[in-house]
Amino acid sequence: MSEVDDSMSEVEEQEELQRKKEENGSGLDYILSLESVPSKLPPRLEELKTRVFCKSDAPVHTDTIQYSGAYAALRVDNSLRLDNFCQNFKIELIRLTDDDMEFDMIGIDPALANAFRRILISEVPTMAIERVYIANNTSVIQDEVLSHRLGLIPIRADPRLFEYPDTTGTDKNEKNTIVFKLHVRCEVGQPRITVKTRELEWLPHGSELHSEDNNRDASSKPRTFTSFNCSQDSLPEFPKSPIGIKDSDIIIAKLGPGQEIELEAHAVKGIGKTHAKWSPVATAWYRMLPEVVLLEEVKDELAEELKNKCPVGVFDIEDIGKGKRRATVARPRACTLCRECIRGGKEWEDRVSLRRVKDHFIFTIESTGALPPEELFTEAVKILEDKCERVIMELS
Ligand code: SF4
Repeated sequence: MSEVDDSMSEVEEQEELQRKKEENGSGLDYILSLESVPSKLPPRLEELKTRVFCKSDAPVHTDTIQYSGAYAALRVDNSLRLDNFCQNFKIELIRLTDDDMEFDMIGIDPALANAFRRILISEVPTMAIERVYIANNTSVIQDEVLSHRLGLIPIRADPRLFEYPDTTGTDKNEKNTIVFKLHVRCEVGQPRITVKTRELEWLPHGSELHSEDNNRDASSKPRTFTSFNCSQDSLPEFPKSPIGIKDSDIIIAKLGPGQEIELEAHAVKGIGKTHAKWSPVATAWYRMLPEVVLLEEVKDELAEELKNKCPVGVFDIEDIGKGKRRATVARPRACTLCRECIRGGKEWEDRVSLRRVKDHFIFTIESTGALPPEELFTEAVKILEDKCERVIMELS
């Protein structure tokens, strides 16, 4: 009779659990909503999990704790949950100019922040000069050095409007090639001249140099190095984003009297992984948010000493009355982690704690000019999204 009673109560428990699951979503949500399950770690463990501690010799607790059962003994769930991520993830824009931007990426794993950095440097495409046809070069710069310099000039052209060139590089049309012409001469008797990028002239109709074509008959039109079907400036996409050189003041070469350069430079679409000239950023980097904590009150002369130790002015001094003063942390974000403030004896390490927030990244993007920095970041997000979709497709 007692066995029947037990089985009945189990059935009831199952029904109750099912009912609660329906109310609260998944079974995990239900378990986490129970009062007996703590949702937070004790403060010290939480600190070790979320902060890097910078000691005078080396940083410690640098790893991120990913294992879902890491705190099972404390009955705290450490699993990665999409709804938590969506709730905590934030982007805060700090500075935005034409060429660079700084923003805070909060609530993200270092691996993902690093993925964005790497994609920005080597996978977001741009246009760069890939082939240079030199008709005449009597300057002191050798042809290959001149070509290399031209390759590194940032080109202002939206790469999303272009296609990648074919692997042979022979089919050069208005959708995959931009042609620039450079023809400068320093006349005899004239002073030396400096050739700058403003001398590069965009040819929207394509190449003007005649290629060698042994099969051509005398009556046909001479062939050039491109085969454009129409002028690029007649295409509807380009008037909104005109093509040109990003900076007109970059020095290409210097010419002495009687010297001349005549060439055509053909730019194509590519990525930084192939060559750094296609990288859309001068740099893309991040640092973890600094956190400077005073572990005890630092007063009077010591406060003055602490303020003077910091080369970037992280500390200030405030009056606390009766002629007393104490140090405060006024600008922690400026901290460069030089560790000057904790040098000079163990007592300084006991007064000041230098930390970094593990999931808060101060991200800086410096664009070379092909695309504005904010668009570069959205392009990087799209590339990462594509990669994730490819992985999901391969796995399913
Ligand atoms: S680590 Fe250097 S920059 Fe940071 S607070 Fe200390 S002295 Fe200033």
